Amino acid sequence: MPHTHDVIIIGRGIAGVVLSETLHAMGKRVAVFDVPKTNAASPVAAGIVNPVAMRRIIASWRAAEMLDIAEPFYRSLEQEYGEVIWHPLPLVRLFANEREAQEWPRHLRDPEVGAFLAEGALPGFDADTFNAPHGYGVVKRCAWLDVEVMREAHRSKWTAMNALVEREVLPRDVLITEDGVEVFGCSAPWIVWCNGPFAALPGLVPTRGEVMSLHLPDLDAEAMVHRNGFLLPVGNNNYKLGSTFAWADVWSGPTESGREELVRKLNGLLGHVGSPPLSTGEGSGVRQASGVRPASRDRRPILGQVAPHQAAFNGLGSRGVLLAPWCAQHLVAHLFDAVPLDAEVNAARFHA
Ligand SMILES: Cc1cc2nc3c(=O)[nH]c(=O)nc-3n(C[C@H](O)[C@H](O)[C@H](O)COP(=O)(O)OP(=O)(O)OC[C@H]3O[C@@H](n4cnc5c(N)ncnc54)[C@H](O)[C@@H]3O)c2cc1C
Repeated sequence: MPHTHDVIIIGRGIAGVVLSETLHAMGKRVAVFDVPKTNAASPVAAGIVNPVAMRRIIASWRAAEMLDIAEPFYRSLEQEYGEVIWHPLPLVRLFANEREAQEWPRHLRDPEVGAFLAEGALPGFDADTFNAPHGYGVVKRCAWLDVEVMREAHRSKWTAMNALVEREVLPRDVLITEDGVEVFGCSAPWIVWCNGPFAALPGLVPTRGEVMSLHLPDLDAEAMVHRNGFLLPVGNNNYKLGSTFAWADVWSGPTESGREELVRKLNGLLGHVGSPPLSTGEGSGVRQASGVRPASRDRRPILGQVAPHQAAFNGLGSRGVLLAPWCAQHLVAHLFDAVPLDAEVNAARFHA
């Protein structure tokens, strides 16, 4: 019997959305299965795209290559969906101390990271509204992806195409046949698990992250602001504040300690250190959310075959928006054209 599909995808977070659209654009027949699960990463992801690793001020892994693929990919989805999802936005790094301020010119001259940094002040940015006694530096080529709008548009399109089934698929529901897999009446040569932190995958290190959404009527920031956390303007004086990292009790958020840490981050950014913490009680308009990042042991994606006719697209950790379009292209080239997987992302690196 011929297959009903070319690929069956399980999971519709950033990985599943990007992979399904990549395959669809190539003319492949795709079925997507997904159920919303508490603690999924994408519904809480801030969606920030930043090509600079802020702790050491170095370019993030293959930043230029990833960005050159990510931006046109999400722009093409905007055309497809008729929705704005890619919001270019500079990032302002508030210097933590004088030493950091003095080192910034050295980073500007660095041939790799310097390409992502802008010289001088950011027009229109009012540093006085932030706690910036040591000044600030500007990272360019950053953006904010509206993950929520993207996922909602994907859901509408794939439901209309009759290609989305909102149903849980467990490993025992997958029947392995001679030349592929069968799942609830669909068959294909490949099933790709895009199930994020819910996967049982060698090398995966689920990590809890918490964010807050809040309304700050007196703050009109036209840039993301970063120092030991970020404040992201998402329009109409609404902001996302994040984010925390926790490696224990990862499924138990939102937590009180997460709330306290986020409030400390906000007060640190706005300069209210020592003042009473932001009110987060009933009626304050502040929403706290928690998700589990599908991080990997070496902070690289996890791609490739994990069983006969089964592959994984996982390990997106904390830069999923930036990495996903390249990962999808790379995995598809591997599955359909036998292009060898890059050793840095190959799932096999974690197999004993
Ligand atoms: C607080 C926080 C802030 C973040 N901020 C950013 C950011 O600013 N920028 C950035 O790039 N990244 C950010 N990330 C990381 C980003 O969220 C991840 O890279 C990305 O969301 C991972 O997507 P995913 O598709 O792999 O997993 P998920 O988003 O978890 O998606 C998995 C999907 O599979 C479904 N599923 C699971 N099992 C099954 C099953 N058996 N059957 C059917 N469906 C199933 C789940 O319900 C879910 O819909 C953040 C993460 C957190 C937690």
